[in-house]
Amino acid sequence: MTRESISSVHETLIVGGGIGGMAAAIALAERGVSVEIVDIDPDWRVYGAGITITGPTLRAYRRLGLLDEIKAQGAITTKTRLFRYDGTHLKDLDEPVIEEGLPATGGIMRPVLHRIMQRRVRALNIPVRLGLTVAALNNRADGVVVTFSDGTTGRYDLVVGSDSVFSAMRDLAFPHMAPARPTGQGCWRISIRRPPGLTEGEFYLGHANPAGITVCAPDSVYLWMLTPHVERDRFLTGDELFDGLKALLADFGGSAGWVRDAMTRQDWINYRPLVAALQPKPWYDGRVVLLGDAVHATTPHLASGAGMAVESGIVLAEELARHASVEQGLLAYQERRYPRCQDVIDSSLAVGRLQLSHGDPREHAAILEGALGRLNEPF
Ligand SMILES: Cc1cc2nc3c(=O)[nH]c(=O)nc-3n(C[C@H](O)[C@H](O)[C@H](O)COP(=O)(O)OP(=O)(O)OC[C@H]3O[C@@H](n4cnc5c(N)ncnc54)[C@H](O)[C@@H]3O)c2cc1C
Repeated sequence: MTRESISSVHETLIVGGGIGGMAAAIALAERGVSVEIVDIDPDWRVYGAGITITGPTLRAYRRLGLLDEIKAQGAITTKTRLFRYDGTHLKDLDEPVIEEGLPATGGIMRPVLHRIMQRRVRALNIPVRLGLTVAALNNRADGVVVTFSDGTTGRYDLVVGSDSVFSAMRDLAFPHMAPARPTGQGCWRISIRRPPGLTEGEFYLGHANPAGITVCAPDSVYLWMLTPHVERDRFLTGDELFDGLKALLADFGGSAGWVRDAMTRQDWINYRPLVAALQPKPWYDGRVVLLGDAVHATTPHLASGAGMAVESGIVLAEELARHASVEQGLLAYQERRYPRCQDVIDSSLAVGRLQLSHGDPREHAAILEGALGRLNEPF
């Protein structure tokens, strides 16, 4: 597909080569921008969880030309099956197809998704420097002079900070912003082989700790569970993660009960306290702009954080292509993304609050349904 080229920006630095940074890099490079990525991780890895890729996220990946690979290497599903936590089947929710030829929903292992995006980055000849971050920025009207952590410098027309929810770029260049705030919940996840007979995503309701399973490949799934967060002064050990999740699944039946009985200490298990923040505008200053969790970090209640990061990368490139100046392009990017990210974050936080207060499940369902419907609208 021919893309409108970008005239206001030539040399661009992406700080943070995660989902959002790679999406931006691909979308910008496809529009003729000379892009370079730096990532602080010397091995450019991602941890071993699965990830849910909703219809809108698949639509965004289709725009990046990566849908076929995701379909081939992930898992595509057409509905979500709802169960009582003890395994009693309640009903099936058919997921709408939001664009012709687009699968309804799916899942994939994060390392697999990462490799698909990394391959595209390399195919576009985007240089990637690892084990490196930004130490200082001189944000001038005619360009940004960047000093890297290894003492080298570079001059760029645009610098994109996509360095995660704990963004150092945000701290460095956006003093009006603040760290993301804890929401009071935590998320347990385990990656494990597929339970027998499970073919679609599953949700377990009616328990104080909501849980679900996403299919990620023919032979693998991940199970997630949300619990109230208990503050600790250290990370949980591997044994604590295993014993803790097994105990939390004690009342569960169906495939969740199967996971409890089949899980081993070798399976990848993780616990993460949830944080979120919609950062106040402006999301850019001169020629430095933020993207992804750095500026719109959400909780997993709508399984849309990664989708929002990919959409933001695409919209950044589209708006820079549409406008003659960097300032106009960045303003248009911010104005297009802010309300949609705000909706996702507000709805996710509202669901989390209801879960913590054991609120009315009908209210919970109405918020989710409304938000998911709005997410299906074009971005
Ligand atoms: C428990 C949990 C479950 C989730 N489940 C889902 C889901 O099912 N579906 C979904 O769509 N979303 C989900 N999300 C959200 C999703 O993971 C994030 O929204 C997404 O990863 C954000 O992408 P990003 O590129 O902004 O940041 P990241 O993916 O965090 O990438 C940031 C990159 O920046 C690099 N970096 C960090 N600091 C620096 C630095 N100082 N300098 C240079 N590089 C740096 C990192 O090494 C990394 O490569 C979930 C989140 C959580 C916490």
